Amino acid sequence: MGNPHRETAVRALVEKDWQAAADAFTLAAHRDFGNGEEWSTLSPGSRERPAFGLASLCQAALCYRLAGHEDRARLRSLTAQPVAIDGRDHTREGVTRAVYQEFVADARAVLGDTERAATEYERAQQLYRSHTPEDPVTAASQPVFTAANRLILHASRNTGLDVRWDDLHGEDPQSGEYLAHRAAFKRRQLPRIVDAVLDAGRLHTPRGTTEYNNESYRCPECGETDINWVAGETVCLHCSVRVAKQ
Ligand SMILES: [Zn+2]
Repeated sequence: MGNPHRETAVRALVEKDWQAAADAFTLAAHRDFGNGEEWSTLSPGSRERPAFGLASLCQAALCYRLAGHEDRARLRSLTAQPVAIDGRDHTREGVTRAVYQEFVADARAVLGDTERAATEYERAQQLYRSHTPEDPVTAASQPVFTAANRLILHASRNTGLDVRWDDLHGEDPQSGEYLAHRAAFKRRQLPRIVDAVLDAGRLHTPRGTTEYNNESYRCPECGETDINWVAGETVCLHCSVRVAKQ
């Protein structure tokens, strides 16, 4: 789902301009919350678009923390929480309710409010257990889940705590724990990942289309030839610096 502000945000990450990235992620969120004409957070039916907006608010909060603006990070989190709660409490589909509860928790975790985040993740686990879909794997592939994966997959890149899609889900796809595992995993890992980003003082670009050993490119910093194409940029998969075709 295209959103020009999100692309601007990713380009700002390449420039290591955390404030510009945070501002652009904020605008991306408001675009995804809609203007009430074509879509909005109150539109009936699929909840995916506002979910991507919630992901962007969490990414904005992380970028503001990197830029040293804790107050604005807190405000983005405070904006996300009622939107997520409203989605959770006014959605008919049980699994979507659980996903929206994950966002309530993510918005806490990104601030380092680990204790409250843990409580909110436990609530998400309970919602998953009471709304197990017939086919949990298919459910987990829906866009609303893609949105809920975005913060942790992005923030963990190149931190040593690199999270993949499979990590988020339980071992038995038929079990009620398959989706509940998501909340337990985030409760354990997301606070550590946020700390790792802040300790490193940088957030890498998200993973876009990747290719290993593309000899047409060589990273000016690490010399590797593994490429990440994202938001119209061609960057090193490991350093997120621009690479030029040789
Ligand atoms: Zn590199």
